[in-house]
Amino acid sequence: MIAKVAIDLALDRLFTYEVPEALQKKLAVGQLLSVPFGHREARGFVLETSHGGDVFQEGDYKLKPVTAIVDETPFFSPKLLELVKKVAEYTASPIEAVLKAALPAAVLKKNARAKEQLYVGVRGQGLGVREQGLTQRQKWLVEQIERLGGGWMQQLCRELKTTPASLRLLAERGLVEIAARQKRRDPLGNRIILPSKPLPLNDEQRKALETIEAPSIRLDGTGQLPTANCHLPTLLFGITGSGKTEVYLQAIAAELAAGRGAIVMVPEIALTPQTVSRFASRFGDRVAVLHSALSDGERYDEWHRIRSGAARVVIGPRSAVWAPVRDLGLIVVDEEHESSYKQDETPRYNARDVAVLRGALEGARVVLGSATPSLESWMNVKRGKYALAEMTRRAGMGRLPNVRIEDMRREAGGGGGMIFSRELLEAIRQRLDRHEQTILFLNRRGYATSAVCAGCGFVVSCPDCGIPYTYHRADACLRCHVCGQWVPVPKSCPQCKCPGFDFKGIGTQRAEAALQKCFPHARVLRMDADSTSRKNSHDDLLSAFRRGEADVLLGTQMIAKGLDFPNVTLVGVLNADSSLNMPDFRAGERTYQLLAQVAGRAGRAELPGEVIIQTHDVDAPVLAAVVRGDFAGFAADELKARQECFFPPCCHYSVIVFSSTDLKLVSDWSSMYAKSLGAYAKRMADFKSQISKGRFDVSEAMPCALEKADGRYRWQITLRSTRVSDVVCGWRWITAARPLPKNLRATLDVDAFNVI
Ligand code: ADP
Ligand code: ZN
Repeated sequence: MIAKVAIDLALDRLFTYEVPEALQKKLAVGQLLSVPFGHREARGFVLETSHGGDVFQEGDYKLKPVTAIVDETPFFSPKLLELVKKVAEYTASPIEAVLKAALPAAVLKKNARAKEQLYVGVRGQGLGVREQGLTQRQKWLVEQIERLGGGWMQQLCRELKTTPASLRLLAERGLVEIAARQKRRDPLGNRIILPSKPLPLNDEQRKALETIEAPSIRLDGTGQLPTANCHLPTLLFGITGSGKTEVYLQAIAAELAAGRGAIVMVPEIALTPQTVSRFASRFGDRVAVLHSALSDGERYDEWHRIRSGAARVVIGPRSAVWAPVRDLGLIVVDEEHESSYKQDETPRYNARDVAVLRGALEGARVVLGSATPSLESWMNVKRGKYALAEMTRRAGMGRLPNVRIEDMRREAGGGGGMIFSRELLEAIRQRLDRHEQTILFLNRRGYATSAVCAGCGFVVSCPDCGIPYTYHRADACLRCHVCGQWVPVPKSCPQCKCPGFDFKGIGTQRAEAALQKCFPHARVLRMDADSTSRKNSHDDLLSAFRRGEADVLLGTQMIAKGLDFPNVTLVGVLNADSSLNMPDFRAGERTYQLLAQVAGRAGRAELPGEVIIQTHDVDAPVLAAVVRGDFAGFAADELKARQECFFPPCCHYSVIVFSSTDLKLVSDWSSMYAKSLGAYAKRMADFKSQISKGRFDVSEAMPCALEKADGRYRWQITLRSTRVSDVVCGWRWITAARPLPKNLRATLDVDAFNVI
């Protein structure tokens, strides 16, 4: 018998070992083994086993034998291994890297183990005859311990004001039992969580639950999903506050009742104590939490509670998609459009997509929830790959706010200098008078500046891709980050002939100063990367605002999500253009998401809300859609545009980034790769056109928007293809044919999310 093992070295290949007689019965895929590797021992996971040597004979080498099985309980089920392999293939990542991403490091640490503590257990019922010779105090102790039904030694000593020695004396006399027991390191241990009951669902919620629970379907062989026992994933499209969480809770309850488990994924930033409490209140001890703030011990215990089946509901960020839940019945991906589901290091997987894949592999239901779905998921609904459940009304208290657009071109001077419109200032003044709160939002990022006409707000864009050019200061040119073509900065605006373009912008600090000048007595809190660098300062600022210690909260996208302040009745977006003009084909989509989220902050409780959006670009269709609250209309237009320009979700958009301390190396090699891949793509296209339709476009090599980082120069190539496999094959081919020199790194990001 032989075993194929992935060794923890990211070599992107499996090593073959012979399995000694003694281990053959016990060995199973997914186990961690100890194997000889070079002159040392290495650890690795078994991915495949087989009998009969000749198929696997590796040249003339004699296979080395497996040394030992480190843990007989497999770390990965066969289904999870299958998922790992598929993700490695899709993202063109070494399988070891995916295994690593799928298992918390804390679980594999050499000294990782369950924590044991001494536990004092009770023996008999009542003291009876054993009472003889006990002091009053000892009798009392035994009674107390029996009343409590036993307890941890440390805790009993504290609570009963006694010592370990006294308890040992009792044990020696056979009155209690002392033994080491596993003690769970519980991340929720020090919190009081009150149980909650299911709420009666409203009509929309009930319908959504029915859609999620619809019986399984059988697809014919053409779909990507397997043919048996397959559920259509459900996109739960519900506005902020429509009660999506209650739907998740009840869908999970149904799975638990049927003996199955569930995974709930939320973006890391939303993984707050409040979110976790809502699940723990309903499901108590059956909930396990995985997030970055856990200690190694907590993570170790939570992971083992999941694997053993003690915990049935897992809540966590994107890595939770790998949780070893047994009999998985349901995966929920909340805020499915969030970019934090995409891992920005190898393996660059999108946990939402992995969730859908895992659901198909394990026959589990999948729910993707959002108030502003990604166009990828929306198109999957249109194509019948996902079912749609819609919730259009707020479930609890609160109404949708009134949303208005302010034309900043009309404001005094007409230039780009104005920060606040008169309307917005008046609205803020009213809130100050009424002691209500205001949130002001300004999304100002450091790099990736576009050229905006100071007079009319016109943005210079690539004629082929329709995407704003990015200003590159080094060579004073404007460059399209999709196709790579460039132009010098125009002398005057092509639209209004006004000379000069604006590359600068208004940042949060400048806005804060201006606001303070208008309202010297207003208490303003500013929240951005600069003001929240200290640990906890993020939470401190928000708590202060919630307690009413400030009138205005002014911040970047940090304040856009998931926050719930009942006293906020006004939200102002100072400059919607900065989001609209990002050199990203998803700029419109992101703007819609952002504005819908920001608007969701106003009027959450009894007080009605008002939202004012300032812009130079009043005709932008996305703004009109936000005002109407018309996601479907926006999505239809956007999909059409994406189709025409060959952008996702109508193609796969991938990026190769090259970096090195040597500029010439980066530019030479990226240009060479671009040329070779371009030729490869053309051959593929000619070949494929005889079989099926498919397109594969490779851009020129160009500097990244962030041209230099950490002392390394960065260049990129963008790839757009109908099929992912074309990109992955091309990449495998070229990295093998033209191996990179030592001082040069290149990474492929399949289905890139962050494209600038
Ligand atoms: P979402 O997740 O869609 O933003 P939430 O689940 O947070 O919405 O629900 C918003 C508010 O509505 C919460 O305070 C919740 O308790 C309340 N709520 C949800 N469903 C119901 C219901 N069926 N009846 C009454 N209140 C509800
Ligand atoms: Zn272009």
